[in-house]
Amino acid sequence: MEPAVSNGRLEVSCGNKIPKSTPCPRPVPGEASGGCSFDGAQITLIPIADAAHLVHGPIACLGNSWESRGSLSSGPELSAYGFTTDLGEQDIIFGSEQKLHESIRYIVSRFAPPAVFVYTTCVTALTGEDIEGVCKAESERLGTPIIPVNSPGFVGSKNLGTRLAGDVLFQHIIGSTEPEQTTSHDINLIGEYNIAGEMWHIERLMQQAGMSILSRITGDGRFREVGWAHRAKANMVVCSRALLGLAVQMERKYGIPYFEGSFYGAKETSYSLRQMAYLTGDRDVERRVDKLAAREEMRLSLELEPYRKQLKGKRAVLYTGGVKSWSVITALQELGIKVVGVGTNKSTAEDVSRIADRIGDDAEYIPEGGARQILKTVRSRKADMVIAGGRNMYMALKEQIPFVDINQERHKAYAGYDGLLSLAKQLVHTLQHPVWELTAKLAPWEEETEFAD
Ligand code: SF4
Repeated sequence: MEPAVSNGRLEVSCGNKIPKSTPCPRPVPGEASGGCSFDGAQITLIPIADAAHLVHGPIACLGNSWESRGSLSSGPELSAYGFTTDLGEQDIIFGSEQKLHESIRYIVSRFAPPAVFVYTTCVTALTGEDIEGVCKAESERLGTPIIPVNSPGFVGSKNLGTRLAGDVLFQHIIGSTEPEQTTSHDINLIGEYNIAGEMWHIERLMQQAGMSILSRITGDGRFREVGWAHRAKANMVVCSRALLGLAVQMERKYGIPYFEGSFYGAKETSYSLRQMAYLTGDRDVERRVDKLAAREEMRLSLELEPYRKQLKGKRAVLYTGGVKSWSVITALQELGIKVVGVGTNKSTAEDVSRIADRIGDDAEYIPEGGARQILKTVRSRKADMVIAGGRNMYMALKEQIPFVDINQERHKAYAGYDGLLSLAKQLVHTLQHPVWELTAKLAPWEEETEFAD
């Protein structure tokens, strides 16, 4: 399949229009209930595993987002430490810059990280702490990059926080180091967080096709590695509109072409690998990808056969919002599942048009409304299961609806060819679990009992 080129730029892999850069929407009251900007920034940067991440604010802010995304590291685990200045009333009244100085010094002397990210929260932004000044002074004093992340919760949604984290990467880190060697087949993955080890599977596929990942942004990332991302041949933005701005900025400054892609489903995986190969400009790599895709799709087709039989015709409501609302549809359709309802919460107009490309008017669009709206759609469309984020899990379970977690908290890898097999197994396991039959029965004390006189 030949990727389309327009005005010298590669068109996006998952649609047919070059994405426009749009300003962030203004936050509306209650928006942060789905995760605040601080949360978005922290979960975007925390997968940089060898760096320290220090939250300057009350301890509850750290607890809000710590370990909420199941990103795995193949080595260092410093980022899993929950560093915070743990502000109390006295700190808010008298100021806490000194505490921040001391915390940074302690972390650098005790753990010697390659960098420390310092996160602003609502409290420290409102009290006017000079976090940038503290970071600058400590960077000079300690000789370690201390990077301010100015994304307090009140500025907006989680997506905005992710976008701001992208700006931090672009302004403070990318371009700050040089790789020991580069090849003409180096690709950066942007917005791939290695949830449950998904990225390792993708990396193996890329290696088999003769390509390599230069910088992981940010799943299983390392600080120095992110610094040399400007030497890549191409950027792939993996299912993340919020980090699209980073790819656009890198294209403008370093001339690195980018495309948007997904690894959910065999078709999307093959297409993304082909786009990467195309951008390397090496015909040999393109041929290797074609062979690899054909082989993997054939293998997968055989392995999926028994699961497809059991899933064929099942009806699902998919509620993830954003990019995943369309990228997962393809994967479910490949398994023979009919998507009868789909969440469009946090989706852009382009996401919605991609959903429409895949399912047309056959499904109900769920703009927002959370659990109540999902339940309504499940009943009206006679769905067999709900595929959503952990936040909606208890609604589904209480209503005895089979549920599969598709969001960042999950513990299963669903990306790539093997990921589709794993998703099929999980769906079958969930649908056939004996608990649904048991819970559908009346409890012993609810059954009518006839007592002999
Ligand atoms: S940064 Fe603000 S909105 Fe986010 S958890 Fe802390 S207090 Fe709440």
